[in-house]
Amino acid sequence: MSARGNLFIVSAPSGAGKSSLIAALLTDKPTDMQVSVSHTTRKPRPGESHGQHYYFVSVDDFKTLIAEGAFLEWAEVFGNYYGTSRKVIEQALADGIDVFLDIDWQGALQIKQQMPEAVGIFILPPSRAELERRLTGRGQDSAEVIAARMAKAVSEMSHYKEYDFIIVNDQFEQALADLRAIIRSQRLTQASQINTHSDMLKGLLAD
Ligand code: GDP
Ligand code: ADP
Ligand code: 5GP
Repeated sequence: MSARGNLFIVSAPSGAGKSSLIAALLTDKPTDMQVSVSHTTRKPRPGESHGQHYYFVSVDDFKTLIAEGAFLEWAEVFGNYYGTSRKVIEQALADGIDVFLDIDWQGALQIKQQMPEAVGIFILPPSRAELERRLTGRGQDSAEVIAARMAKAVSEMSHYKEYDFIIVNDQFEQALADLRAIIRSQRLTQASQINTHSDMLKGLLAD
């Protein structure tokens, strides 16, 4: 039985770079980390595929999943529903895999209530102007959607104090290094090390 994995919650205003940072972290396909694939009622963007970026479902299917208790948390964001599957997360953590949740602040709050040991990371853009540039530059949302996301960005960012760590995503490589440092620190906390090295510790401290 391997040690339990760590749960990382990553939140940010839309366009701050959380998907890019998590994707970069997982580029080499590490076996000890995985990103949770959420369910959403949002329509797929060009290039997004079912089961990889999201499980794209209808509002009716989403409501059935809520009723079945399938979600560890769910929330309505920008008029669409988003939810995290309970089963997949619990299995990965039990297998010793670190899991990343790319979820909004409402979801983060729900997870923290159920799993206080989860580590919250908030990603901030260096400025409002740069956030707007990135949302526009991504070129995947309509002008209306971008305007709505910008309008919500300030209220989303106001939740940064509810998180354990804050990363400013100005230079991408620096932000990625910061993210890796947080993960490494978490793996070195007393609770994680006791979990990882329980047999070794028993041997060291035996009479
Ligand atoms: P993005 O902000 O450009 O990544 O656009 P998305 O449409 O992918 O996500 C919109 C918002 O929904 C973001 O704030 C995500 O963090 C959030 N989100 C995605 N999946 C979930 C989820 O399973 N639960 C919750 N609560 N929020 C989610
Ligand atoms: P989120 O998942 O938070 O909505 P994305 O990861 O999709 O954000 O990033 C939004 C856009 O900004 C993407 O086009 C991405 O390539 C770009 N981006 C991310 N980080 C940086 C950075 N440090 N500098 C410049 N552009 C960035
Ligand atoms: P997406 O916008 O589709 O989330 O990002 C696609 C890929 O581009 C990600 O895997 C990420 O590694 C990379 N990327 C996005 N922005 C930057 C950046 O500013 N610098 C670097 N080096 N890579 C980036």
